[in-house]
Order: sequence, then structure tokens, then C-alpha cells
Amino acid sequence: KHDLPKPPQRRVLTVANQKGGVGKTTSAVNLAAALAMHGLKVLVIDLDPQGNASTALGVDHRSGVPSIYEVLLGEVSLSDAAAVSDQSPNLYCVPATIDLAGAEIELVGMEARESRLKAALPTGAFDELNPDYVFIDCPPSLGLLTVNAMVAAEEVLIPIQCEYYALEGLSQLLRNIELVQNHLNPNLLVSTILLTMYDGRTKLADQVTAEVRKHFGDTVLRTVIPRSVKVSEAPGFGQTVLAYDPGSRGSMSYLDAAREMAERGFGGE
Ligand code: ADP
Ligand code: MG
Repeated sequence: KHDLPKPPQRRVLTVANQKGGVGKTTSAVNLAAALAMHGLKVLVIDLDPQGNASTALGVDHRSGVPSIYEVLLGEVSLSDAAAVSDQSPNLYCVPATIDLAGAEIELVGMEARESRLKAALPTGAFDELNPDYVFIDCPPSLGLLTVNAMVAAEEVLIPIQCEYYALEGLSQLLRNIELVQNHLNPNLLVSTILLTMYDGRTKLADQVTAEVRKHFGDTVLRTVIPRSVKVSEAPGFGQTVLAYDPGSRGSMSYLDAAREMAERGFGGE
């Protein structure tokens, strides 16, 4: 396995879609694991109080451990809250505990409430961790946590499930991204769309795929993630599918998607 190109600048991607169950967390952790497997240093920031990304990376997220909640409050630094995943020495996760559930409301009264995550993201030489890639796994809403993720990132990665209501709600997501671009983060770009849970036996999946490609063109990765039981089983074992069943179709497709992302690069590369 040859290594993937190291980005000249750190890439920070927000994985967002206000619909639940479309594959945000699965894509964030498996793309991260795939890049880490190829020698890149990757940090996953779990920004969903459910803590599913923390679970899949095998990182403790019981209430009381240093987590993204304390980071947003400014009590703990991001690198102090980051734990290494047992699945790869290059793979780190800042976990989310249930404490984060109140943050959406607590943040409202705070100073610079939209940019607290950005402020906590260290840059260059000031970063002990110094990851090549950062994935921010968003909750299924467009609230302040997701806004914080969009302010902290340069790229948005949108997973779209190959199902009937796939495009529903997407215009609202895009409108919110535009608001963030206009008011808070002019550098934000929807760089990547990933089709997930593709079931080749259904005509519908192909229709959705074609429609998304027609609408979003080259932003959509050529690689499509198939629906696969192994992918859904992995989190139950505290693992990504890459660790759980490295040879499975799901694992191979995330490796392909990660390669495509890395080779395609971003911005002025
Ligand atoms: P989100 O973070 O957007 O809510 P998840 O990544 O948690 O979505 O995925 C929702 C559910 O679908 C989870 O139970 C997950 O294990 C399952 N899942 C995700 N991707 C696949 C896939 N490719 N094949 C089968 N199940 C999947
Ligand atoms: Mg999730």
C-alpha cells in the first residue's frame, strides 16, 4: 500500500447534513481511518452529543472525560482533550460526552458563540497534534454546534444517502452554508459530496445518484459507498469498518473514497 499525498496545508472538513442517519458519522470515522492507515495524521472532532464517532474510534466518552464540551467552554485545549484511537497511532479523536447536549443552549449566551471551535483549533507550530486532516462530525441539526463547525472549517463534506428523500432538506443546508459564507466564514466551500448506502438492486438508488451528479457535478466523489452489513456492525464493536473487516466491500469503498479525496486535494494545490 503506497502512501497518499500529504496536503500542503491542513485540511479541515465539516461533515454536515441536518438529516440524521445519512452516514455522517460513518463517513467521518472511516475516511479518517483510511487516511490514517496511509500514514497521514488525522483528528476527528466529535461534535454530536450522541458520541457515535467516539464510540466507533474506541475512545472513552463517559461524562467527565476531557471532551469537546470543555474545549468549547475554553477550559481544556483541543490537544489535551484529544485521545489516540486504539485502531491507529495516527488517528486521534476529541470525544463528545452527553454534557454536550446542553451546549447548544449554553453557547447562546457566550461571547463569540459562533467561533469558539475555531478559536480552539490551534494552527501550525502551536499545535502539538499537528494533524494533516481534521474531520468534524456534526449533529443532525443546523444549530450553533454545526455553525461552529462551519466557521472552523474550510471544507464541507456532505454525505447523501441514496434514498428517496435524499435531496429533501439539502437546499436548506446549502442556504445555511451560504449564510455562514456571507457573514462568518467567506472561505467555506462545499468541496465534497459522498453518496452513501447505495443499494445496486434498486432502481431508485441509480436515479438518486444520477440526480445528485447532475446537480453537483465534480463535487461528487466517483466512489459510492455501498450499503453493507459490515459497515453497520462495526460500531457495535467500537470499531471502524476498516478495523472490523478490512477486506470488506465497505472498507474498500472508504479506502477508495479517501484516496480520491486526497489525490484531488483542495484549493490552490
Ligand atoms: P448520521 O451520523 O448521519 O446520523 P450514521 O453514520 O450514524 O449517520 O449512519 C446511520 C446508520 O446507518 C448507522 O446505524 C450506521 O451504522 C448505518 N450505516 C451507515 N452507512 C452504512 C452503510 N454503508 N451500509 C449499511 N449501514 C450503514
Ligand atoms: Mg452521526
